Amino acid sequence: MCECTLYFAGRLLYDGERKNKNRNGDEHRVYKQLCKISGEENVLRDEPMKKHTTFRIGGPADYFVTVQSKDEIREILLLCKREQIPYYILGNGSNLLVGDKGYRGVVIQICKRMNEIRTEENKIYAQAGALLSKIAAQALSNSLTGFEFASGIPGTLGGAVMMNAGAYGGEMKHVLESADEFVLHI
Ligand SMILES: Cc1cc2nc3c(=O)[nH]c(=O)nc-3n(C[C@H](O)[C@H](O)[C@H](O)COP(=O)(O)OP(=O)(O)OC[C@H]3O[C@@H](n4cnc5c(N)ncnc54)[C@H](O)[C@@H]3O)c2cc1C
Repeated sequence: MCECTLYFAGRLLYDGERKNKNRNGDEHRVYKQLCKISGEENVLRDEPMKKHTTFRIGGPADYFVTVQSKDEIREILLLCKREQIPYYILGNGSNLLVGDKGYRGVVIQICKRMNEIRTEENKIYAQAGALLSKIAAQALSNSLTGFEFASGIPGTLGGAVMMNAGAYGGEMKHVLESADEFVLHI
C-alpha cells in the first residue's frame, strides 16, 4: 500500500507566444515574489523545458520553480491566481511534450526536493516527487510485495497517480491507499 502527497494542478501545458517582456514591471514583481517563496536559487527564468522532459524537447518556461513543501506550493498557486498566471505541476516529465515556444507561466517542479520515502510496517509513505523505481526498491528492501509492476515506469509517484500509471496488469489504483491533495478556495 502506498500513500502520497499529491497536488492537483488542473492545467494543461500549452504552447505560448512570447510577449514583449518588461522585466522591470510585472514580470520582475512576479520573479521577486517567487524568490521570496522558494529562494532565489530555486527560481529559474526562461528555463528550457527540453532539460526536463524525457523526450528532450520543449522551449523555455517563463518561470521554473523547484519546491520543497506543500506550503510553498500553496503560496505559489495563490500567487499565480492573484497575478492570473498559468501554472503547471511537473513530475519527472516522462509523459510530457512541450512545444518549441515553451510555456508562458510557472512550472512547479516537484521531483527534486519533495521525494522522501519511508516505510512503516507494511505501508510505504512517499512524497509526490519520489520516483517509482525508488519506491519499488524500498518495497523490495522491506520485503513488501505489490509494487513490482511500477519499478520500470520512469515517473514520479504524483505523476503516476495522476495518470493511473500501470504495467504488467498492475495499476496505481490497486496499490494507492490515500493521497493528500489540496484545493484552493479563493
Ligand atoms: C520510456 C517510457 C516508458 C513508459 N512506460 C510506462 C508504463 O509502462 N506504464 C505507464 O502507465 N506509463 C508509462 N510511461 C508514461 C509515464 O512514465 C507515466 O505516465 C508516468 O506516470 C508519468 O509520471 P511523471 O512523473 O513523469 O509525470 P509528468 O510527465 O511530469 O506529468 C504527467 C501528468 O501528471 C501531472 N502531475 C505530475 N506530478 C503531479 C503531482 N504531484 N500532482 C498532480 N499532478 C501531477 C502533470 O501535471 C501531467 O499532467 C512511460 C514513459 C516513457 C517515456
